[in-house]
Formats: sequence, C-alpha cells, structure tokens
Amino acid sequence: MQNEIVTLDGPAGAGKSTVAKLVAKQLGFKYLDTGATYRATTLSIIKKMISIEDKKSLINLLDSIKIDFDIDGNVLLDNERVTNDIRTKTINSFVSQVSALQVVREYMVNLQRRITESGQYVVDGRDIGTVVLPNAFYKFYIDADVNERARRRHEEEISKGIKTTFEEVKKSVEDRDKYDSSREISPLTVPHDADVINTSIMSIQEVVTEIVLKVNYIKHKNIQ
Ligand code: C5P
Repeated sequence: MQNEIVTLDGPAGAGKSTVAKLVAKQLGFKYLDTGATYRATTLSIIKKMISIEDKKSLINLLDSIKIDFDIDGNVLLDNERVTNDIRTKTINSFVSQVSALQVVREYMVNLQRRITESGQYVVDGRDIGTVVLPNAFYKFYIDADVNERARRRHEEEISKGIKTTFEEVKKSVEDRDKYDSSREISPLTVPHDADVINTSIMSIQEVVTEIVLKVNYIKHKNIQ
C-alpha cells in the first residue's frame, strides 16, 4: 500500500507552509517544503555564480549539491544551515526562473520522491498533487486573494526583520504567480482531484482543522 501523503499545492503566500507544518504536527506526519529545495538550488547557483543558460555547469552543480532538512525543519545546503538565506528578496526574484528549468525540476522531483518514499508526509509546493506525487491519498489546493496573500507575506517578512513594503511584496507575489502558472513544465495548476480551499477569510487554525477533518474522514471511510 502506498504510504500516506497529504499534498498542499497553491500560489505564493497562500499560507501553505504554515498550514502544512501544523497539519503535519496534528496528524503525526513529517513535513516536506519542496519550495525550499528550489530556493536552496537557487542560492547555490548564485553563490557559485553559474549562468542558468550554462547547462553543463548546471548539471555539475545538481550532481554535487546536497539538500537536506534537519529534525527541526532547518534547510541544509551542502551541510550548511541556510534556512534564512533562502528567503531573501534576491532569492524571491530569481527562484521562479530557476524552477522553470527542466533539468532543475528533474533533479528536484527525484529528490522529493526519494525523501517521501517511506513514512507519512505533508508535502507543499506547486506540482505535488499533479506531477511529483499524483497517487497521493489526500490532495488540497490552497488559494487566497492576491491582496491577502501579499498582506500575509509582507507581515511575515517584516516579522523576520526584512525591510520591505506591501507594494514590493505584492509585485513579487504577482510576478512569481505569473511565472509559476505560465511555465511550460509542471505549471501551477489545480489537481483535478484536489479539494480547493480559499483561505482569504479563514484563520490558519480553521484551514488546519478543515484539512485534518477531511483527511481523517477519508481515512476512516477507506478502512471501513
Ligand atoms: O513555496 P515557495 O514560495 O517557497 O516556493 C518558491 C518557488 O519555488 C516558487 O515560486 C516556484 O517557482 C518554485 N516551486 C516550484 N515547485 C514546487 C515548489 C516551489 O516550482 N513544488
């Protein structure tokens, strides 16, 4: 039997990662932030000053890169903790271009499948229910109005000490939405078998409760 997986796809700032962490905690599942794998790759490309047009160097980098998560959820790039370094404005503005590259997606999808192949996971991203783990049991698509998403991201960035304005964050969210939804390979789309939750006027706890209830409902229905 396939291991139990909950997928949460959706656009930037919809609250996926906050919700995913809490859902994982309540269900006793592990959490995988697939966005972090693309962000860590982007950081490595910047650090090593590789051009994304240079496919050979890109493949060399992807062959040697080591992306891990420690038990506290920190992101490790080549054994170095980069949890905060992957959430800067520079990474935000470049990550969608990197994640649109076929070669990058191939490596990341393999990595994400390897990590989740044993154990129960909540996985968030853009293409998890459609491409990475299409056989997952419980699929959700988390959406929210763009102003609300930008407001949440802005608040989050300010709380982390990042100097930014609402307009700047909104533009970055809109640009990434556009890029992620219109790319050729694995664009952001709603999985046909996902439950769509619009979180614009919901609290985090309401979203978490709705997902946990649905997962438990489907689980018990399948056992009977
Ligand atoms: O989820 P997060 O906002 O951290 O993702 C950063 C970027 O990584 C997204 O804007 C998207 O370009 C890319 N991404 C992706 N596929 C995923 C997860 C993230 O293309 N499964």
